[in-house]
Amino acid sequence: MSTPSSEQSFIVALHDIAPQTWQDYRPFVERMDALGNVRMSWLVVPDFHHQSATFEDPAFLNMLESRLAKGDELVLHGYYHCDDAPAPKTLRDYYMRRLYTYEGEFYPIDEQQARERLERGIELFAQRGWPLDGFVAPAWLMGEGTRNALKHLPFRYTSDPGHFYELPSFTAHRVPTLVWSARAAWRRAMSKVVNDVSKWQYRHLPTIRMGLHPIDMRFDSSRTYWHRCIEQLLDQGYRSETKRDWFDRCIGARTV
Ligand SMILES: [Zn+2]
Repeated sequence: MSTPSSEQSFIVALHDIAPQTWQDYRPFVERMDALGNVRMSWLVVPDFHHQSATFEDPAFLNMLESRLAKGDELVLHGYYHCDDAPAPKTLRDYYMRRLYTYEGEFYPIDEQQARERLERGIELFAQRGWPLDGFVAPAWLMGEGTRNALKHLPFRYTSDPGHFYELPSFTAHRVPTLVWSARAAWRRAMSKVVNDVSKWQYRHLPTIRMGLHPIDMRFDSSRTYWHRCIEQLLDQGYRSETKRDWFDRCIGARTV
């Protein structure tokens, strides 16, 4: 194993943050806090699956605000997260919206719908006085309408598993992500192999991202993988940062 320089960093993103998923994440977050120097980007869903209204839960909002105070970042992650649009009509859409995921809320909607949902999310963040730099689409899936809407809104960045994109230009920066598919036992077994290989391949990159999901927290194999991965990276001298930290450091601090 090479010895990473202290310039190397990692980014932990907690996907699908909503009152409904907090019990899954809580022990993990406590463990990260015990390590003492792990910053996290929390991908907040305003109304997860129409059942978990984040901005109507005072205790949960207080918890998120305590994270901001610690230097963590809150990111807008869809509005409902689930794909409620009319049934897919093409084979490609069927694959993307039914076989690949049911969670691509911002894949099928048009520019106007995307803009409305994004503006509602922006407004909710603004009402709490939360800084907002990033939007990450559920399942990282953006349709043309969403991409166009993002060009006219005050986000600084979006991302997919392989890249960060500066907005509004969509200038791409390669920062790959380790991610688990924890839905089934065979997927979990494969994920360990795939992530071990990827981590090895990414060992010379300046920054490595980790995309964590609530379901990862429900299985020993995936939960333990993430604990070990983060503890190893810290031991190897990597610094923890948020997505916003990365943009401040690599692209420059926001001026407007
Ligand atoms: Zn998600």
